[in-house]
Amino acid sequence: MERVDVAIVGGGPAGMSAARAAAERDADALVIEKGVPRADRERTGPDSTDAAGMLDYWIDLMDYDPEEIPEDIILRELDGATFAGPSESVTLRDTGIGASYDGFGFTFHRARFDDWLREEAEAAGVSYEVGTSVTDVDSTFDAGSFTHTLTLADGEQLEADALVLADGPQRTVTIDALDQFMPADRSTASLLGPDKANHIAYQEHRRIPEELFDPELLKFWWGVIPGHTAYPWIFPNDGNVARVGLTMPIDMDIGTVQNRAEYALLEPDDEQIPPGRVYLERLLEQQYPGYDLEDFPIVEDRGKRGGTEAYPISSTRPIESPTQADIAVVGGAMGATSAFHEGGDHVAVRTGKIAGRLAATDDLGRYNREWERALGDEVLRNVTLAEMARDMGPSDWDETFDIVDRMLSVKGSRYRQALGAGFGGLSLLARYKWIRRGFSDGAYVQLHESEYVL
Ligand SMILES: Cc1cc2nc3c(=O)[nH]c(=O)nc-3n(C[C@H](O)[C@H](O)[C@H](O)COP(=O)(O)OP(=O)(O)OC[C@H]3O[C@@H](n4cnc5c(N)ncnc54)[C@H](O)[C@@H]3O)c2cc1C
Repeated sequence: MERVDVAIVGGGPAGMSAARAAAERDADALVIEKGVPRADRERTGPDSTDAAGMLDYWIDLMDYDPEEIPEDIILRELDGATFAGPSESVTLRDTGIGASYDGFGFTFHRARFDDWLREEAEAAGVSYEVGTSVTDVDSTFDAGSFTHTLTLADGEQLEADALVLADGPQRTVTIDALDQFMPADRSTASLLGPDKANHIAYQEHRRIPEELFDPELLKFWWGVIPGHTAYPWIFPNDGNVARVGLTMPIDMDIGTVQNRAEYALLEPDDEQIPPGRVYLERLLEQQYPGYDLEDFPIVEDRGKRGGTEAYPISSTRPIESPTQADIAVVGGAMGATSAFHEGGDHVAVRTGKIAGRLAATDDLGRYNREWERALGDEVLRNVTLAEMARDMGPSDWDETFDIVDRMLSVKGSRYRQALGAGFGGLSLLARYKWIRRGFSDGAYVQLHESEYVL
């Protein structure tokens, strides 16, 4: 049976970054990627969510120099992001976090990004097996070390000293692989099961009329569809094509929606939560009165198929890995793609880089500490904001955006800005700090290494 130093399940940003980091330290690294076809890629490759917005400081968090990002990946340089409630809105022109990248951020071509990561990894000596899935992992302890036996869909088996689980938010392998180390009465499925821990994301590539197309701003609408952290967006791409998408909870019951008449994209006759496609049609009709849907044609040769794509998106808090068993869970699989959804490629790349380096040097025991040091502030911020958003309705969003808009008109520290926005500003800041404190000192982690049975 083939044996490798490091086996990596999944060839997305997390998996390829782990593989490259391991190979650069002379480890024998093998990536197994299920492989999916896409309309905008010739060969099969990772299941690239063509989602792709990158903020300035995320490049630093990925541990890349902006110069290293190939130009042909970037679709649009961004100047800011607009957050709109039903009636109020605020536009941020600065992420407020120091960054090496000169600009607000960019949108990028995710399939090309994934191809680049793959090329870099292969150049470093990674073996890449695409077109077959891992169906099972069996980890055994013998003579002082672990061996992980991976079974592939075609029946082939291989062994590895270290295992990196990078199978994304579906966690097709991660849950069972981790459950080997959970107490008999607990399963990681209760924390990471896709139907509990994820949202569904749906998006369309549409051509926007020239006069409406804003090439430099990301746009998000909050409080227009029900559900925790449920919102539609428009991301400008190349030409006047934009990705019009949304994220929303899986299987939400419309009967549980309070004040449903306040949600602009729900209609009185809706008997269930409308599918993403319907929500997006309503968004375009309402935002651009005087235009027909035909004025926003779907660009069919992009995305996964026919110009549209649907994916699960991780919307939970991260877990620590059972590193004593020489296993690291990275990126979307570990729930590190942020409870706030937008933004995960940077966390995926960085957790992958850390895991690959440590797996290659036989030092995986440091993995949890290292990713928490590198990414803890980012995860803490996102988890805090997601908690603040819990139970907010349309009028709460309007009030919040009004306050933030007033805060941004004041120069100075966050405290000065809050003070400048009056009582609302101060109470918003106090609430943020209070919730943040509850998740600090690592409390944003939902499964600690000490809870595994090893
Ligand atoms: C609609 C949408 C919008 C988003 N917007 C942004 C954004 O603007 N900016 C941003 O930074 N992030 C964004 N994200 C998040 C980003 O896509 C994820 O954080 C990122 O893809 C996570 O990378 P990953 O490598 O952990 O997982 P993935 O990219 O999901 O890769 C996992 C890989 O594992 C493979 N796989 C799964 N199971 C198996 C198996 N059993 N055997 C072999 N292979 C397997 C899959 O085919 C896949 O290629 C968005 C996500 C969605 C869905």
